[in-house]
Amino acid sequence: MTSAGLNVTPLSDWGIPFADKLIVSGPCSAENEHQVIHTALGLAKHKVNLFRSGIWKPRTRPDSFQGVGVEGLKWLTKAKELTNLPMAVEVANPSHVKASLSHGIDVLWVGARTTTNPFAVQAIADALEGLDTPVMVKNPISPDLELWIGAMERLNRAGISKIAAVHRGFSSFVSDEYRNQPNWVIPIELRRRYPSIPLICDPSHICGNRKMISFVSQKAFDLLFDGLMIESHIEPHTALSDANQQLAPEDIGVLLKTLKYKTEGVDDSQFQRQMINLRQKIDDIDLRIIEMIARRMNIAKEIGEHKKQMNISILQPDRWKQIVSSRTAMGKAMNLDEGFVFRIYQYIHEEAIRQQNEATGNCGADLGTRFPYQVKD
Ligand code: PEP
Ligand code: MN
Repeated sequence: MTSAGLNVTPLSDWGIPFADKLIVSGPCSAENEHQVIHTALGLAKHKVNLFRSGIWKPRTRPDSFQGVGVEGLKWLTKAKELTNLPMAVEVANPSHVKASLSHGIDVLWVGARTTTNPFAVQAIADALEGLDTPVMVKNPISPDLELWIGAMERLNRAGISKIAAVHRGFSSFVSDEYRNQPNWVIPIELRRRYPSIPLICDPSHICGNRKMISFVSQKAFDLLFDGLMIESHIEPHTALSDANQQLAPEDIGVLLKTLKYKTEGVDDSQFQRQMINLRQKIDDIDLRIIEMIARRMNIAKEIGEHKKQMNISILQPDRWKQIVSSRTAMGKAMNLDEGFVFRIYQYIHEEAIRQQNEATGNCGADLGTRFPYQVKD
């Protein structure tokens, strides 16, 4: 299926059996043969479809555990023989690709740090030229959708059509409850622009802790993600990397039983009538919102003309202050979040100033805010 320039094979044609969602699980890192095999045997009892394991680990500091290297690929081959689960590993350069493929690894993934580097992604793409290997591409560390898309384009141009995007959250200088901010608007925008690219969520790296994994997994399903990648270890507390965000295989089983799978549409005619009805209401309201904003802008332009005649500034800080406090208070009284109302008015105010400047031939026609996405991308 072609998705805005990308030729993407649906997940269901990757040759990996799964039910509603593709579930990928396995250790952050392969540590020893026993750990790999017993994690795989544990996960095979639950609804896991693809076993993952880090072999070469991109660690922040050189003294951390760097992965076991090629040796670990043999343990994966054994785990596959014992469980029948297809195997996935992270690759960061052509020699990783070569070693993985020669050990019969079924799926490769590009890690967040590698996606950030177009040279590295291109080298991986070149190493895969002409092959049919599925590749999952994690988002880059920074919230840069173009870089994420660029990595998938490079692979696609090398002939890889079995591509999936893995959302693992974005690094931020703001520390909060997440290890990596989910910033859901980014995968949602990816889906709007490339609807056929399968989207997998990696709650382990988003959360950085075990307790939020279930919440983030459910959120991903509510947003119609196609699958999950969750780290699992037979003894999570002892893991040599990412010990706080791995679940024991039996806990993966419990989690998968509690998650509710959502679909975009169902064949229930009463439900569909309700949806048509409610969406019609939303469409009518949106039409009125747009009409009202257009009317407001026309009045703003008129005000701009008067300001020009009187030679007074377009930006009136006191008036802006009063708009913010009165509108956020109105919103609050109607149960709207103050921050949300504030952001709406920042957009409206910026556009009103731009239009006033344009109407009165002023230079410096906007406040310089750059909005992240374009309508027609
Ligand atoms: C991993 O999956 O173990 C990993 C290194 O993830 P990321 O590239 O998302 O940091
Ligand atoms: Mn990890």
